[in-house]
Amino acid sequence: MAANRTLLMLPGDGIGPEVMGEVRRVIDWMDGHRAVGFDVDEDLVGGCAYDAHGVPLADAAMAKALAADAVLLGAVGGPKWETLPFSSQPERGLLRLRTVMGLFANLRPAIVFDALAEASTLKTELVAGLDILIIRELTGGVYFGEPRGIEELPGGGRRGVNTQVYTTEEIVRIGRVAFELARKRSGRVTSVEKANVMESGVLWREEMTRLHDTEYPDVALSHMYADNCAMQLVRRPKQFDVIVTDNLFGDILSDCAAMLTGSLGMLPSASLGAADATGRRRALYEPVHGSAPDIAGANKANPLATILSYAMMLRYSFDLGQEADLVERAVRAVLNRGLRTADIMQEAKTLVSTAEMGQAVIDEMAALSN
Ligand code: NAD
Repeated sequence: MAANRTLLMLPGDGIGPEVMGEVRRVIDWMDGHRAVGFDVDEDLVGGCAYDAHGVPLADAAMAKALAADAVLLGAVGGPKWETLPFSSQPERGLLRLRTVMGLFANLRPAIVFDALAEASTLKTELVAGLDILIIRELTGGVYFGEPRGIEELPGGGRRGVNTQVYTTEEIVRIGRVAFELARKRSGRVTSVEKANVMESGVLWREEMTRLHDTEYPDVALSHMYADNCAMQLVRRPKQFDVIVTDNLFGDILSDCAAMLTGSLGMLPSASLGAADATGRRRALYEPVHGSAPDIAGANKANPLATILSYAMMLRYSFDLGQEADLVERAVRAVLNRGLRTADIMQEAKTLVSTAEMGQAVIDEMAALSN
C-alpha cells in the first residue's frame, strides 16, 4: 500500500543483510495484512559502503537518512576492513549517522522473555518478566567534554584529562524523553548520577527535579547514585522501569542491564534526536549486536533483535503501539513454542535458521491477528 511514512534501511555488513531480510518480510506482511506500509529505501553503510564508494557512509546515503522518518540499521564491520585507516573504518559510518542526525537519546530496553529467563546469569525469579528501559544521553558528557587530552608534565610523567560537562539544555532534553516515555509505561523514572561527588551530578539532579515538578508531576521521579544503581541492577532489577542517565554511566549501566537478559541476539535499541515543530524526531533503530562475522552468510543469525528494533520504530517513530505489541507478542509466542536460533539454543528446544525464525514470527502475527 502507498504510504507517507518513509523508512531507510541500511543492512550493513556481516549478518546485517540476513537479519534485515527478515525484517523486510515482516514489513511486507504488515503492509499486506494491517495496512501499515512504508516507502522503503535501502542504501549502504559500513564496509560494504567503503567497497562501493571508498567511504563508510556516502553523502547520498546521509542525505536519505536525514530525509527519512526513521532509519533501520543492521550492523557494520568485519575483519576485511579492520586495517583501514581510522577515518574509513565501518564504525565511522555509524558515528556519522548519529552525529549528523543529532541523536542524543539512546534507548536500550532490557526485556527478559519468560521462555529465556534461564539464560540469564542471575536467578530466574530475579529476572523473569523483567522489562526496563535505560535512556542514555549520547552526545554530551565526559566522552565529548573539553578540555581533553594527554600532556607532558614539566617534572616528567604525563597527565590525562577528560571533562565531564552538562548544560541545563542537555539535561532537560534527555529528561523530557525519559518522562514522556515513562508516561507510556508504568510512569516511573529513576534519574542516575553521582551528585554526592560531582558538580555535574548536582546540576543533573536539580534540573531533573525542576523539570519534573514543572512539567511532569504525574510521573514518579526518584534519584539514585550510579554505583548504587549498578548494584541494584544485579540485586533487584525489577524495581526499575525507566532509568535516565548520562553518557558514561549509561554506557556502563546499559551493558550491565543487557547482560541480565543473557542473549545478545535479542536486544534492540533506538537513538532519537530532537523533536521538530511538527513533533517529528530523527530516529535510528538497530540491534545491539555487531555484524557477527563468525556466522555471517550461514543462515544462523538470530533476527529477533532486529525485528524487535523494528517494533520499537513502530512504537516510537510512528505511534503504532498496537502493531508494535503484535510483533512483540509474536516473538514471545515463537519462543514459547520452543523455537531457538543457535545463540539461544537450550536443551529439548527446536533449532531453527534465520529464515525459519523470521517466518515463525510472521506465522504467529497472522495467528494472533485472527
Ligand atoms: P558481535 O556482536 O558481532 O558478535 C559477538 C558474538 O555474538 C559472536 O560470537 C556472534 O556470532 C554472536 N552474535 C551476535 N549477534 C548475533 C545474532 N544476531 N545471532 C546469533 N549470534 C550473534 O561482536 P564482535 O564479534 O565483537 O564484533 C564483530 C564485528 O561487529 C566487529 O567488526 C565490530 O566492530 C562490529 N560491531 C558492530 C556493531 C554495530 O554495528 N552496532 C556493534 C558491535 C560490534
